[in-house]
Amino acid sequence: MTYAISVELTTTPKEKPSHHKQAFGTVFTDHMFILDYDAGKGWHDPRVVPYQPIELDPAAKVFHYGQTVFEGLKAYLTEDQRILMFRPNKNIQRLNLSNQRLSIPTLDEGLVMEALKQLVLVDRDWIPSEPGTSLYIRPFVIATEPVLGVAPSLQYKFMIILSVVGSYYAEGINPVSIYVEPKYVRAVAGGVGNAKTAGNYAAGLKAQDEATLKGYSQVLWLDGVHRKYIEEVGSMNVFFKIGDKVITPALNGSILDGVTRNSVIQLLQHWNIPVEERALSIDEIVDAHRSGLLTEAFGTGTAAVISPIGSLEWQEEQLVIGAGATGELSKRVYDAITGIQLGTVEDPFGWTV
Ligand code: PMP
Repeated sequence: MTYAISVELTTTPKEKPSHHKQAFGTVFTDHMFILDYDAGKGWHDPRVVPYQPIELDPAAKVFHYGQTVFEGLKAYLTEDQRILMFRPNKNIQRLNLSNQRLSIPTLDEGLVMEALKQLVLVDRDWIPSEPGTSLYIRPFVIATEPVLGVAPSLQYKFMIILSVVGSYYAEGINPVSIYVEPKYVRAVAGGVGNAKTAGNYAAGLKAQDEATLKGYSQVLWLDGVHRKYIEEVGSMNVFFKIGDKVITPALNGSILDGVTRNSVIQLLQHWNIPVEERALSIDEIVDAHRSGLLTEAFGTGTAAVISPIGSLEWQEEQLVIGAGATGELSKRVYDAITGIQLGTVEDPFGWTV
């Protein structure tokens, strides 16, 4: 199937950044993609246009009831000047799962893939090439119908914007200190925790603020029912190496099905390292730490790929993991995934597009 996406090029291209030390998500490219939805008509008018502000009625439903979803993925420039996206089909599928959960009409996955490719190609000169840099791709949907009744919107906009991002690890990958959050929860099973929707992130800001004030870089989220099972770390999935096994919380409805999480599991299986997806309590982590079996922990996500955890604070106790240094497995997984993303190591899984 072919898709007719119209392209209107900018007549006033912006100056490209001369370095890549900018804060995440602050520099946007020259173009964006837009697709509209109206009940009766369906999704229509796919187009690449100059990056520009959008005008919305103040009653647009997204502002009042948060009917919105988003995605995040990256494109990389290889040494031989190819452009690679990492597993974009996983993001497109997750976008539609989020759409379904938020009562937003699903998108044609082929059209979204074509839109990603066309937009990235139009703005290809923006893709940075320094080590660790990439083009961050942000697809999102907002409910635009100007009606205050609480019901699914009859109008939407699907858009894609692109942001130039610098190296997450300018000084190498560094372990972070984590506060195990006893009071706030991010999501509960049955809610929207497994959808990539704005409210989940708004709900996490308060805990993050308080952890920052205490000197921690992220929180470790526990489940909302028993308040003891581990869910995620900040906005990343989380893995623990206990003895010769690697354990990550099972997808239980309140955890986001991370593309990096899935990639790490497949890599570990490929390397014959035992990996378990199951319920994992904070007590089990404390016990494994006491007995010396907990040797590594790390978060996984598109932004940082791997973020090693150097210490956890739980009930006023500091659990230092792996002497606070980056573990061997964390490093191995990081090198393998970033190598595949940049096309410098063989991609046995066919992950890049
Ligand atoms: N959990 C949450 C809540 C997230 O926002 C993200 C980032 N998308 C992740 C996990 C990691 O997902 P991915 O590996 O697909 O980036």
